[in-house]
Amino acid sequence: MDAEERHERRLTARQDAARLTADGVRAVAVSWVDNAGISRVKTVPTARLADAAHRGIGMSPVFDVFTSDDVVTTSEHIGGPDGDLRLFPDLDRLTVLAAQPGWAWAPADRYDQQGRPHPACQRQFARRMTDRAAAHGLELRMGFETEWTVVRDDAGPGAGDVAGRGPAYGLTRVTEQSAYLLALHDALDAQRVDVLQIHPEYAPGQFEISTAPAGPVGAADDLVLVRETVRAVSAAHGLRASFAPTVVAGQVGNGCHLHLSLREHGHNLHRDPIGRYGLAATADSFLGAVLDALPALCAIGAPSPASYLRLVPSHWAGAHRCWGVENREAALRLVVGEPDDPDGGHAELKPFDAAANPYLVAGAVIAAGLRGVLDGGPALPEPVTGDPAGRGDLERLPTSLAEAVGHFVRDDALREALGEELCGAIVAVRRAESEALAELGPEELAEATRWRW
Ligand code: GLU
Ligand code: MG
Repeated sequence: MDAEERHERRLTARQDAARLTADGVRAVAVSWVDNAGISRVKTVPTARLADAAHRGIGMSPVFDVFTSDDVVTTSEHIGGPDGDLRLFPDLDRLTVLAAQPGWAWAPADRYDQQGRPHPACQRQFARRMTDRAAAHGLELRMGFETEWTVVRDDAGPGAGDVAGRGPAYGLTRVTEQSAYLLALHDALDAQRVDVLQIHPEYAPGQFEISTAPAGPVGAADDLVLVRETVRAVSAAHGLRASFAPTVVAGQVGNGCHLHLSLREHGHNLHRDPIGRYGLAATADSFLGAVLDALPALCAIGAPSPASYLRLVPSHWAGAHRCWGVENREAALRLVVGEPDDPDGGHAELKPFDAAANPYLVAGAVIAAGLRGVLDGGPALPEPVTGDPAGRGDLERLPTSLAEAVGHFVRDDALREALGEELCGAIVAVRRAESEALAELGPEELAEATRWRW
């Protein structure tokens, strides 16, 4: 980032700060998501926003090797107490937080003290991969689903006392929690998050929000903002929200499915008049390569040992490496959409959960898919109908984090895309979490991770 760009940022931030102050905003939370999926933050008074936009806010690079329970591990390139980075708030995404009066939020990009991009900055990785796709004429639209479980805030550390006890998808749950859900709708609307729907999910106390498609970085920003909004609105209603992959061992968990669609030079690649299932050859290769890379991608998208309590057959989590048209047990679900909708059609990747860093997920999926497009890699195999669990001939996705990491370290394309520093830090965090939680049984593992994200 050169001096001129920083100067411009200061001028813009001064205007933003004046507007925020007039709106009663007194502090800005500048956050980024680490490799363990935790949003870490620095906050500044609104009066210092221009300075933060100009010089960045200091934060140690050691957070790249923090685990989800705040243990500090180390990696070849990153670790230890030395050095500093600068968090630069993205002013284009500066948002007044409707459920936290007096606060605004902005996601950060991380640079070093000389103004060079930090090689392990996850948000810039997602942007780099978006640009890489664009260089090949490809545009991606993405959206994450947020699932969470609410318990009464006075219920103690367990998850027994869920709020919203009515049946799965039951109107009862909306009736019971109508003020809460309405406050969520209102807050997200005020923050200009385009909500598609909010509904009660399968597990007791579980709800879901899906948001409209956006660019990959914007979709990941949306996810971060939605989650903190859910958290804040929950707290204001005497509730506590868990986004953990597994809230209660053995139950359906919280997924964080990624929806994605592809366009090439403005053409929707899910509406090809002669391609099978409407997929143009480029989309077929892209999705085929993503399916191929799913075991490795699990190390990014299902990054906690607890992810593998969730990623089990017949729990709608997509535990087999297969795809299907509108098959909700396939890891990759092709959504054909309304035939007369020229913008319709997309794919849903189900194995991912909310312990994942969404910027890493977005970037890694693009990197995996592009490999297929560029190498003319495998197109999608035959689709699967019905529950894959009953067939016996389909590959299970990894059943542990260690197994996923084994696939990941052998995936040269993903390693190249992420770069050595980021890759090394991710592997270090995954291995540290695997080892630290290795001895825990399912219930203990769910309990240990229930409130981390
Ligand atoms: N809760 C399920 C999961 O763990 C997903 C349910 C759905 O299909 O939305 O991914
Ligand atoms: Mg769902």
